[in-house]
Amino acid sequence: MAVDRKAKTKVVVAGGGTAGWLTAYSLVTRLGNLLDITLVESDQIGSVGVGEATIPTMRTFHRLVGIDEQEFMSATQATFKLGIRFDNWGQQNDSYFHSFGEIGQRSWMAEFHEFWLEAKAQGFGGSLDDYCLELKAAKANKFATSSGKKPVNFAYHLNATAYAAFLRKKSEAAGVKRVEGRITHIENDDIGNIASVTLDNGSKVVGEVFIDCTGFRGLLIGEHLKVDFEDWSHLLAADSAIAVQTQATESARPYTIAMAHSAGWQWRIPLQNRVGNGIVYSSRFLSDDEARSTLLGNLTGPTITEPRQIRFTTGRRKKAWYKNCIAIGLSSGFLEPLESTSIHLITTAILRLMKLFPFEGNSRLLAEHFNRETQLELETIRDFIILHYHLTQRNDSPFWQHYKSMQIPDSLTHRMAMFRENAYAWPDDVALFRVDSWVQVMMGQGLMPKQHHGAGRVLAADGLKSQMMALKSMIDRSVSQLPEHADFIQSYCPAQEQE
Ligand SMILES: Cc1cc2nc3c(=O)[nH]c(=O)nc-3n(C[C@H](O)[C@H](O)[C@H](O)COP(=O)(O)OP(=O)(O)OC[C@H]3O[C@@H](n4cnc5c(N)ncnc54)[C@H](O)[C@@H]3O)c2cc1C
Repeated sequence: MAVDRKAKTKVVVAGGGTAGWLTAYSLVTRLGNLLDITLVESDQIGSVGVGEATIPTMRTFHRLVGIDEQEFMSATQATFKLGIRFDNWGQQNDSYFHSFGEIGQRSWMAEFHEFWLEAKAQGFGGSLDDYCLELKAAKANKFATSSGKKPVNFAYHLNATAYAAFLRKKSEAAGVKRVEGRITHIENDDIGNIASVTLDNGSKVVGEVFIDCTGFRGLLIGEHLKVDFEDWSHLLAADSAIAVQTQATESARPYTIAMAHSAGWQWRIPLQNRVGNGIVYSSRFLSDDEARSTLLGNLTGPTITEPRQIRFTTGRRKKAWYKNCIAIGLSSGFLEPLESTSIHLITTAILRLMKLFPFEGNSRLLAEHFNRETQLELETIRDFIILHYHLTQRNDSPFWQHYKSMQIPDSLTHRMAMFRENAYAWPDDVALFRVDSWVQVMMGQGLMPKQHHGAGRVLAADGLKSQMMALKSMIDRSVSQLPEHADFIQSYCPAQEQE
């Protein structure tokens, strides 16, 4: 059948959480001439309402789809994030940062941490943290989007509900039609593609491409099209969370805190006007009541919402794109939020879809490519998260004992062995976690290499020392010149409206 090149492709986005509105907004702003987009969501069901810490890739994504940083930050009461502080992970009462910054200066042959290891072997060098501007700025509560001529690498903490509302307003203004109602029925055409969804009020929304953003339940891709879910609970034990918001009692820090507990961990995400908190835990090792009291016992301010329980299964949809249905967001898979990667996965899925969009109808090859890339990306992040749990000296509870003795993916075993024996680290296959990310987490959790590259010995000892001292002084100077995080926010993106 000939394709009508003048007709717009009818796209139905099912679900209006972060995934749904971000997808609708991106499609309408960049492909709106070619697409007729309807978003269906149900106020009765609501969205998951968490997902407030991000990683730096969000800035590139926002630029690509035309979201203005200051406008977005004001509308979502956002703060800046320079990394994550991990407390009690390597062992109880210790702490390290996984910052977004570059550490020191690498050469083409060797990474900076290898020069630093040589310095330590020669008795100088201080802490590796001293060589990262973003890390030192985080510790000092300082922030600016750039330091002198050097850009600062940062992400955001944002209010998830306000973010969806912000995107909705922009999407509707750009032409997305929003339909309120609960999808109760889904119909296929004669070749098994989805043809329409019917709502509880009896109305029907027809389409050619369906994006499933219905959250964990995956109404279209899972319940209707029966695409299986690959369960990764044997690799990542957490299956529950409790979230609660508190009043801010101190000025917002430019980083997330991830505090490990006896059977999981707790997040603290500072916004301009409140703090998001939550505990992630495994119900096999901790009861809901214990989790709740651990969470409430570790808050820094009075609660402003009731604690809310969320259950989840870690894993991935075996095919995120099947027939004419593409799952984006929680419907396509979920990894717990330890490295704040879910919104990132939404954005990469959207970009991938825009590159592979089936303008001429359904395409098996496009879908296969989409699915391969999605799988690789998710497995890479999974391995990085497992690293945090497995690489620990903690042995103080059945939860940590389980992780220490569990079988981990071969790729991760190999990576840890290479680092332990040779200090060698490399970026992952999807270039999400850089060398510095792997190094900070591996060393932060106590894995110190036995030997390292000789590049640091090519320089005379004095040369290495003076270069490192110059670098450290430059960073100290730059950090001292940065404004306080709270002051920068006040001048750059003060919250537009209080909740
Ligand atoms: C505990 C926890 C902490 C998290 N923390 C982070 C974090 O720090 N950083 C991060 O990046 N991500 C985080 N995430 C993930 C993040 O919350 C999600 O990726 C993000 O919110 C996207 O969710 P979603 O839009 O896919 O689903 P939801 O928010 O669940 O939205 C689903 C939508 O589908 C609609 N819907 C469902 N069924 C129907 C129906 N029958 N008819 C009509 N509409 C329907 C609902 O109304 C809703 O609009 C976290 C997740 C959890 C569980």
